[in-house]
Amino acid sequence: MGNFRNLVAIVTGGARGIGAATALKLAKGGAKVAIFDRNTETAEETLAKIKDAGSEGIALEVDVTNRQQIEKEMETVVDQWGKIDILVNNAGILKDSMIDNLSEEDWEQVIDVNLKGSFLCAQAAQKYMKKQNYGKIVMVSSQAAVGSLGRVNYSSAKAGVQGMTKALSMELGPFGINVNAVAPGFIDTDMSEVSRISAKMRGIDDFDEFKKSFIKNNPIQRVGRPEDVANVITFLASDEAEYVTGQVIYVSGRPVI
Ligand code: NDP
Repeated sequence: MGNFRNLVAIVTGGARGIGAATALKLAKGGAKVAIFDRNTETAEETLAKIKDAGSEGIALEVDVTNRQQIEKEMETVVDQWGKIDILVNNAGILKDSMIDNLSEEDWEQVIDVNLKGSFLCAQAAQKYMKKQNYGKIVMVSSQAAVGSLGRVNYSSAKAGVQGMTKALSMELGPFGINVNAVAPGFIDTDMSEVSRISAKMRGIDDFDEFKKSFIKNNPIQRVGRPEDVANVITFLASDEAEYVTGQVIYVSGRPVI
């Protein structure tokens, strides 16, 4: 599945977790992959795996809230590899808090990285994609878009990402660009460790019990793996999904309404 030979992909937040699994899967399909991350050192392991897979990868220091950095490093990618075919807007953060204690700063940071970052990267990438009349943009939303306790900021950002996906798909479809989103549920990454730390604040006293009960109540009977999400992202980034746009696919082992 997914022949990405001769294609160039950018994965934001690709140094770790879901982004790293996606970068590797794209590379295994033959894509050249640029990882845009705040910390390029953490991308080294993924870059080594990309090399082992016989493809090319680079890690570029980009904070997705910074328009200048995004534009500069997209130019670096185009200078090096000639084009941008695939953008995966994966970078995201959590700053959980119940509403009484949710600071304006934590509201802004979460909206900035998850929502504004997706907008800035999509805006910059689509300029290149339009010129070649080809592109795939995949956003990473979250099951939290339908509401998650202690996550007013994050739920708002991830619901916004879904709205952005649908609006952008209408604008960019005529230019050969598909825009879709995945919305993961509970996926085992460093971010789920952040959830562990913030669990008490969200009224969850015993995170391990919470995880056990989550597994028991999940139809697939396990938490998700980064590869579960990467599989769907790479499908949406492939030509096999050519007639799919403006869609949100939940990758959560359960139905989400
Ligand atoms: P991780 O925390 O494991 O990795 C996130 C990556 O994004 C890190 O490399 C991080 O860099 C990078 N990043 C954070 N902020 C920025 C920024 N401003 N600019 C560039 N890079 C940045 O997260 P996951 O892999 O778990 O999550 C990936 C995406 O999936 C996120 O959008 C998240 O919201 C979403 N998601 C995750 C779920 C889960 O259960 N794990 C569930 C639903 C959605 P650094 O090392 O500097 O922090």
